[in-house]
Amino acid sequence: MFAHNKRLQYTVRVSETNPGLANLMLEQFGGPQGELAAACRYFTQALSEDDPGRKDMLFDIATEELSHLEVIGNIVVMLNKGAKGRLAEGVEEEAEIYRSITGAGNDSHLTQVLYGGGAPLVNSAGVPWSAAYIDTIGEPTADLRSNIAAEARAKIVYERLINLTSDPGVKEALGFLMTREIAHQKSFEKALYAISPNFPPGKAAGDPRFASVYYNLSRGPGEERGPWNQGEKWDFVSDPDEQLNVDGKGGDATVELGSEESAVVAQMAVRTASAQTGDPLTGAELGMGPGGTDAEKVAAAKEPPPSA
Ligand code: MN
Ligand code: MN
Repeated sequence: MFAHNKRLQYTVRVSETNPGLANLMLEQFGGPQGELAAACRYFTQALSEDDPGRKDMLFDIATEELSHLEVIGNIVVMLNKGAKGRLAEGVEEEAEIYRSITGAGNDSHLTQVLYGGGAPLVNSAGVPWSAAYIDTIGEPTADLRSNIAAEARAKIVYERLINLTSDPGVKEALGFLMTREIAHQKSFEKALYAISPNFPPGKAAGDPRFASVYYNLSRGPGEERGPWNQGEKWDFVSDPDEQLNVDGKGGDATVELGSEESAVVAQMAVRTASAQTGDPLTGAELGMGPGGTDAEKVAAAKEPPPSA
């Protein structure tokens, strides 16, 4: 079960109304790297997890992400609160309110006019939150890697948000949220390496003929090598002839069809066969008028008639 605590996980002290900044903060409320996406990602993984340690961790982190959602949501509504009051009560000249929600790069008209200064589940561009943000596949060696990457992205978005606000209270709360994503990334890394072996993800081993091959497939100057394709662990293949038909069975595609399927495929081939001789007249040529493709005659046909 869930219970709500009336105190936030981290204090939110906003120093002044700033609807434009509130709008940017929505990225971590209803955006792809945001807290709702994180909470739903770990909650759904926890439900189906059988390992007791990982299950417990996933529920703990999912619950913390919901607590982060509450913190970032409060930052949004505090930044909007003054503007919301002004708009709702209509206490100013229309032009003055208009300027306050749209002026000076303050792109907050959507959140103000449509959402009334609340905390809508949209990203900073107004795109509605989507479950498609969650890429869980139900295999811990794949999901933990995805979780690590998700925490890394969330950390980067917080870092960018911190860099664009001078409000010390907002900076501080964002710093906490950013730091917790670092801690989550560390837990997911440990949980991944607590599974041994964890690579390649899943159970099936790769084909050893291809598992350590690097195909050098881009032609042109400026070839750079690095540990991702050089050294004892890599077979670096540059010869174009060795990059195709790598299994040696011909490199073509075939399918075995029954006699009924073969017959209709042949029938379609006859119906759609292209003639390789002759020169059929087309609509494009008819449209060119007298002269057809003869450039001089076409030009003559377009000449205005001589005046009488
Ligand atoms: Mn979080
Ligand atoms: Mn997190």
